[in-house]
Amino acid sequence: MGEPALSGWRAQGSARRLVVDAVAPSISSAEAGSPLNASVLVLNRLFMAVRVVNIRRAFQLLYKRMAEVVTVEDGSFATYDFTTWTELSQYKKIFEPAQHEWIHTVRLEIAVPRVILLLGFDRMPRNDVKFNRRNLFARDGNRCQYCGRKFASSELSLDHVIPRSRGGKTTWDNVVCACVRCNVRKGGRTPHEAGVRLVRAPQKPRACPTLRLHASSARYRTWQYFLDNAYWNIELVD
Ligand SMILES: [Zn+2]
Repeated sequence: MGEPALSGWRAQGSARRLVVDAVAPSISSAEAGSPLNASVLVLNRLFMAVRVVNIRRAFQLLYKRMAEVVTVEDGSFATYDFTTWTELSQYKKIFEPAQHEWIHTVRLEIAVPRVILLLGFDRMPRNDVKFNRRNLFARDGNRCQYCGRKFASSELSLDHVIPRSRGGKTTWDNVVCACVRCNVRKGGRTPHEAGVRLVRAPQKPRACPTLRLHASSARYRTWQYFLDNAYWNIELVD
């Protein structure tokens, strides 16, 4: 099977083969918040978050039986293969339509999964959180680490707590967000010399901070279960 365009997916016959619909509307009609833009959290077999994929890739994995949908209801987990998820979707469409986003195929509607579980994949999560501007802002919650106030990313700069001129490294525990005012006030000095204090000591985050931000939105709240527990001790039943 090739790579079908999601907007053109269509259920065909009892085998539910997904084929490209040449006259399907363009994916560009998808707006922010559209189901087609949804992100799906991918877990390995140990229920550890390993990556985030787009909805099209998630459905490919499900359809190829490389993954199953994971749901969290009342604190317990359930998994569904593509067929049972499609069937369950018909039930959900009737009884809880507002609780899901929907992908429309020609014959039916399928609820957008938030989390999927890889069946034959033991890759461990990357425990190396990328050190970059975006993740630093996310770690610090866009707050200046000197005055504690929140700013737009465009109004924040990155500050070396121990200045580079004093041997300060460009690392998670020496770089923080600072507003322009605090940054200028501190100048090329240490916090002690400048008479300023950090809101909290900077550390390397345990989980990807941008993932955490994602998980804090209502749309992706089920992700929280898997990000808070890097080593999830759920009982695995074969
Ligand atoms: Zn500040």
